[in-house]
Amino acid sequence: MKYGRKRVLVTGGAGFLGSHLCERLLAEGNDVLCVDNLFTGTKDNIVHLLDNPYFELVRHDVTFPLYVEVDEIYNLACPASPIHYQRDPVQTTKTSVHGAINMLGLAKRVGAKIFQASTSEVYGDPEVHPQTEDYRGSVNPIGPRACYDEGKRCAETLFFDYWRQHGMRIKVARIFNTYGPRMHPNDGRVVSNFIVQALEGQPITLYGDGSQTRSFCFVDDLIEGFIRLMASPDDVTGPINLGNPREMTVRELAEMVVAMVGGAKTEIVYHPLPADDPLQRQPNITLAKDKLGWEPRITLEQGLERTIAYFRERMKA
Ligand code: NAD
Ligand code: UDP
Repeated sequence: MKYGRKRVLVTGGAGFLGSHLCERLLAEGNDVLCVDNLFTGTKDNIVHLLDNPYFELVRHDVTFPLYVEVDEIYNLACPASPIHYQRDPVQTTKTSVHGAINMLGLAKRVGAKIFQASTSEVYGDPEVHPQTEDYRGSVNPIGPRACYDEGKRCAETLFFDYWRQHGMRIKVARIFNTYGPRMHPNDGRVVSNFIVQALEGQPITLYGDGSQTRSFCFVDDLIEGFIRLMASPDDVTGPINLGNPREMTVRELAEMVVAMVGGAKTEIVYHPLPADDPLQRQPNITLAKDKLGWEPRITLEQGLERTIAYFRERMKA
């Protein structure tokens, strides 16, 4: 960048996380280009930004090359919910791998700094608990989750090869389960499913016996981590875990959501545990604390309160 506002590209900017990121970047005075093919994202997530002259939406699929001039790139494009990324698994892998190649190529041409939204799924069904960044993971390369897990692992490989080979400025975040307003009601992920089911008085769908664990981070905390990572010195490349270390069973989450929504009579129905569903997951965030001075601030109770309020409002509309 020579003069004026920083030009920032957000791929997947019309999705759940991307829309919050675009909002935050605009609030900080950047010129934001949101690129999305609207596969799982929606214009509704960013409609309130469309009047801002420093915001632009381009409908584009990142598996095809993109020629724009930008200073920073956040590469978030990829369906994140198992039901969506398994709908067209070949396209999911292409989005991660070809998308990374195209965005890294763009970053190389224009000299941009580039951030990759990687995932705790690179650890697979982990034997090391909590997960630290040096753990190499336990991923089934031929299972139904592989299109996503291996796609994201290959994207990390590409980022580090571009860094070694071309001296590029890269930032790789491994994101753990994140929730909040603007999750799609039919997204299929556990927090949105449970809240929508409880609000509608439908049975809560618990997969397996509900003893598998996850650790849930509120979206605002996560976006703060993105911004800090992007602004960190060039030698902080990651991979760096971003997530909330408070671990709980999925059953505990179901009970909490039911209690908060006030649906005392809500019943729980059991469904088989999906193949390769990780049994435990909790981030070790020591690296993020040391390198970024970052840790989550919003409690699960506060975050769920805000998310429930969002879905309540949405369901009235
Ligand atoms: P999301 O599905 O709401 O957003 C993904 C966005 O990418 C959508 O707007 C979608 O339309 C877009 N997209 C998908 N394929 C594309 C393509 N080929 N070209 C252009 N756009 C495309 O999911 P999210 O939760 O906002 O996740 C954003 C990113 O963060 C993803 O890369 C995901 O893997 C990563 N992540 C999210 C979580 C989480 O808990 N939310 C956890 C780990 C990693
Ligand atoms: N899950 C569940 N009921 C649902 C949706 C999900 O019990 O309606 C479980 C799922 O099997 C997994 C956990 O909740 O163990 C988190 O699922 P999600 O799809 O949100 O994310 P991921 O498995 O990718 O962490």
